Amino acid sequence: MLNLFGSKRIRGGVHAEEHKSLTSAQAIATDFPLPKRLYIPVQQHVGKPAEPVIKVGEQVLKGQLLAHSQGMVSAPVHAPSSGIIIDVNEYPAPHPSALPIRTIVLETDGNDKWLEPILVADPFTLSPEDISLRVGAAGIVGMGGATFPTAVKLNMGRENKIHTLLINGAECEPYLTCDDRLMQERAEQIIDGVRIMLHGMEAGDAIVAIEDNKPEAFTAMLTAALPYPFISVRQIPTRYPMGWDRQLIRYITGLEVPVGSRSSEIGVTIHNVGTAYAVHKAIRHGQALVSRIVTVSGGAVIKPVNVEVPLGTLISDLFNFCHVRPDITARIIMGGPMMGDSLPHINLPVVKATSGILALTQSELKSADEQPCIRCARCVSVCPAGLLPLDMANNIRNNQLDAAVDLGLKDCISCGTCSYVCPSNIPLVHYFKYASGEVMARQQAQHKSEQTKRLMDDRNARMERIARQQQEEEAARLAAKAERERKKAEQEEAA
Ligand code: SF4
Ligand code: SF4
Repeated sequence: MLNLFGSKRIRGGVHAEEHKSLTSAQAIATDFPLPKRLYIPVQQHVGKPAEPVIKVGEQVLKGQLLAHSQGMVSAPVHAPSSGIIIDVNEYPAPHPSALPIRTIVLETDGNDKWLEPILVADPFTLSPEDISLRVGAAGIVGMGGATFPTAVKLNMGRENKIHTLLINGAECEPYLTCDDRLMQERAEQIIDGVRIMLHGMEAGDAIVAIEDNKPEAFTAMLTAALPYPFISVRQIPTRYPMGWDRQLIRYITGLEVPVGSRSSEIGVTIHNVGTAYAVHKAIRHGQALVSRIVTVSGGAVIKPVNVEVPLGTLISDLFNFCHVRPDITARIIMGGPMMGDSLPHINLPVVKATSGILALTQSELKSADEQPCIRCARCVSVCPAGLLPLDMANNIRNNQLDAAVDLGLKDCISCGTCSYVCPSNIPLVHYFKYASGEVMARQQAQHKSEQTKRLMDDRNARMERIARQQQEEEAARLAAKAERERKKAEQEEAA
């Protein structure tokens, strides 16, 4: 049973410097010039990469399927504009490593011509399963950065009999305002998407949660939700990381998601406001997910904006549009400064997860001058996951990864709150990211060696079986031969 007025605990967190005023008061720019080339990775989601269905030289329309999803957890990708496919190859991924990823390159023709959409007069006449199918076919994934395929979540919602759909409008990361602007300008469409999602999950109620530093967005959403008593819009305190799903669920519902479980197991599912908007576009207008709103901000950006761009747009094109000064850019980050990824260069594409691109100056970055730990325990008091960051970091420094795992390394969400408050400038979250990567690599290596051992055991068993079979066949052959010779000798004796 939903407990709206029960426990409203917020665990840990900080009041981070917001830097949101750089972009929060300006309308979403829609005059971004269509890039000449778009670079569309086939994996922009959690799960298996999509498989290309087009060939080099093929002419495509905007919204046309380029690569289909594979398996249970995957998402297709579509053409973000009309044009010609000029390459399907490995290109750098928008990731700190910039390692190559399979990418479809589209040369745009300037017409931006949509594929004829498949429209439905009334989405509420569709079955919930049909809603999921259409959302899946539109390539929609969690737009808050999680990129989990939305259709899979809708299906899980039905299976687990969700009582509450929580819509995340917290946008707690500093600098980012793309969700804020989306709520201010397109509230009715978001609420429509929420209604469709409720129908798709056969769920009863929805709660939209918005941090109280977005009063205009709150008013717009409240007004749009008024006709629907089953959708409530609530203000939540501004505190990083309020947008973390477990924190938000705990605060709004008073329910705790058990460690190792999904929120759907306690009857709650959570989607981002951008996801609800994408669902509206897919179901009402038959449009696949081919663009997104990106916050471009930071001290090195002359014209900070929220801008709607086709997926596959290079960050270099975005930076030209926003007049970013390379001479004072100290770091480029995809996402927010707390949980985002530092990028090595700007020849990388905007993908479904790109909520923001920041060009930060040296003065906006925390000093790299690391001092010894003074055991002030600030990192412990702010950790939203209830961990002991200083002890985990000590274990990692001493290469005792198992001890760090015992202390809860796997529950760390890499939110960076501990690093943010550390007076000794210890880059705690870097330790945890590194250690998590090591633990994962170790698990993969172990999994691989177990798999190899299993294959060897299978092979040996197969060889033994073949050898046994051959021996049995040889014995049978010899026995038959002896029998034939015996009969022949008997016949000769009788003759
Ligand atoms: S916040 Fe920094 S200095 Fe304080 S206990 Fe944690 S690691 Fe040590
Ligand atoms: S990065 Fe990990 S350890 Fe640090 S505050 Fe966040 S969850 Fe806690």
